[in-house]
Amino acid sequence: MPFRTIIEPFRIKSVEAARFTTREEREAALAAAGNNVFSLHGDDVLIDLLTDSGTGAMSSAQWGALMQGDETYAGSRSFYRFEKVVKDITGYKHVIPTHQGRAAERILFHTILSKGMVIPSNNHFDTTRANIEVEGCEARDLVIPEGRIPSLIHPFKGNVDLGALDRLLAEEGARVPLVMVTVTNNSGGGQPVSLENLRGVRDLAHKYGKPFFLDACRFAENAYFIKTREPGQSERTPKEIAQEMFSLADGCTMSAKKDGLANIGGFLAMNDDAWTEGARNLLILTEGFPTYGGLAGYDLEAIARGLEEVTEEPYLRYRIRSTAYLADKLIEGDVPIIRPPGGHAIYIDARALLPHIPPLEYPGIALANALYLEAGVRACEIGTVMFGLRPDGTEAPGAMDLVRLAIPRRVYTQSHIDYVAEAVLAVAARRAELRGWRITSAPKVLRHFTAQFAPVAG
Ligand SMILES: *Cc1c(COP(=O)(O)O)cnc(C)c1O
Repeated sequence: MPFRTIIEPFRIKSVEAARFTTREEREAALAAAGNNVFSLHGDDVLIDLLTDSGTGAMSSAQWGALMQGDETYAGSRSFYRFEKVVKDITGYKHVIPTHQGRAAERILFHTILSKGMVIPSNNHFDTTRANIEVEGCEARDLVIPEGRIPSLIHPFKGNVDLGALDRLLAEEGARVPLVMVTVTNNSGGGQPVSLENLRGVRDLAHKYGKPFFLDACRFAENAYFIKTREPGQSERTPKEIAQEMFSLADGCTMSAKKDGLANIGGFLAMNDDAWTEGARNLLILTEGFPTYGGLAGYDLEAIARGLEEVTEEPYLRYRIRSTAYLADKLIEGDVPIIRPPGGHAIYIDARALLPHIPPLEYPGIALANALYLEAGVRACEIGTVMFGLRPDGTEAPGAMDLVRLAIPRRVYTQSHIDYVAEAVLAVAARRAELRGWRITSAPKVLRHFTAQFAPVAG
């Protein structure tokens, strides 16, 4: 590579106007949203970093593939194309399409769990945890200790603590129906898991006779981190590494809204025949016939093409570099973030940035709301609001109070990201003025989506 600049590996064929608002308009919009950015109208957001889920730009090849969609109810040609691509990457025997990742989770867990079971992972994502808890089971996080310290630099902060997993399986193994690992580890900062660690998890799971499943939403980003960080992996293609990752496990849940490069979709894939039969029966009840699973034929085409594009090296190099680019600017401005940066997002350590706001006054909400008011940038709290409510109804500080700036795939240019960095630095500069928030109403599960907030008095 003779040049240092890593450019977007695409040209733009179609554009969508961004809408600018005044500060007064944003104040009114946030108040009307109950001070929860999840309730804003998208049109009132200038740069939307709430999530990288389903918000990516599809390629012209994907848009072209939509026209190839076969809407046959049963046995659609698009399903067989989708199934072939998924099997090529994962190697699993059975592929079950679902309308998104959480549907795959619900179908898997409702099929195999019974009350009182424990499911270990590095860190469970919010929908994964909720789908486990709703079955009366426990989602247990076993990420390595380094993964819990935001400022500590480690190449694979998403790794599972193998000693802790061994102890869990030895002491409570009878209650563990399967072992999961999330790649990359979204709730732990989008951090990767090494092949070596995945092998370790596989060995332990199989030693105790437990199936091992990947939450594979960002398998391609994880594969690229392995290529660039794990000894001996640099000469392999991301696809070869991804294939090895999947080969170590017995199945996966997947949201195609992430590394499927699609706007909707997901799948559940596995080798076990009996679990598949149970899952397909439930699929028919709630999602649809096994060859479409709640998706249109054209969605299956877009996902199939997306799964091929996502492992291309120029794409992944650009993807990981453009996230690191934002991280570099924030680190330079002394904003505390999870380091090294994750693949799909930057996680600002709101607890460290706003030490005058206690966790139960939600420093993450304070920062996310200030970012919106300042610049029309929407981010997502991943902290005490998302994880602080225990199943028994009591509240405790989350492990961390983070604000995630998730980068949609192939959507924003470098100048958009320069603007975001400027906005974060502007808010950080007047951090002392930021105040805490309290919840005025919230549902019992996944409260962060719809909770309403009011400023803490004083
Ligand atoms: C997004 C996500 C899910 C859930 O997928 P949806 O498509 O949003 O339902 C599960 N696990 C992880 C790690 C995710 O990032």
